Amino acid sequence: MNLLVLGPQGSGKGTQAKRISDVHGIPHVSTGDMFRAAIVARTPLGNEVAPILASGELVPDELTIALIRDRLGEEDALRGFVLDGFPRTLEQAEALDEMLASIGRGIDQVLFFDVSDELAAERMRGRAAAEGRSDDTPDILARRLAIYHEQTEPVVGRYRAAGILIPLCAELSVDDVSDQILKALKP
Ligand code: ADP
Repeated sequence: MNLLVLGPQGSGKGTQAKRISDVHGIPHVSTGDMFRAAIVARTPLGNEVAPILASGELVPDELTIALIRDRLGEEDALRGFVLDGFPRTLEQAEALDEMLASIGRGIDQVLFFDVSDELAAERMRGRAAAEGRSDDTPDILARRLAIYHEQTEPVVGRYRAAGILIPLCAELSVDDVSDQILKALKP
């Protein structure tokens, strides 16, 4: 089962991706988590991306694509994965298709977390207070949301056109969104 979660900041996709990972026993592969872990560990990649994450801009495609190519090649991802935070640009989506096609695989379903900007922003204010992530300040969050609309929404259109997009009403409670996913996922 090769799944993607797509949606803006504050749409709840990370929470649901973790649940799917637990229920289906497939890894939750989050580019944001991987970059933050690299920053904490002060690896060369971490040192390179730290100022980019702090600014809210996107990490260059070549770095992100290489990271995902390596990660999806690992043993635990062979049975499937739930990818969170990637692809975020059309270039990344094309690279993902190519890397999966070259090993005879593809994306099965794409869960799209549909939520208004207002509610997303409200949830992010709650998360900023709870987690204190340094890129959750109002200015940087606004920048991340703008990049989402500009660069990532076309990716949503791409999967809709491919007929594998599953729109979810992400304004409901966490459990209600989980129910929608349970019903939508192919066994
Ligand atoms: P959010 O979705 O809340 O913005 P993430 O944890 O997914 O947060 O990502 C945090 C940051 O990591 C992004 O703002 C960006 O700098 C970087 N990042 C994550 N995924 C990607 C990606 N696919 N392409 C480029 N940069 C990325």
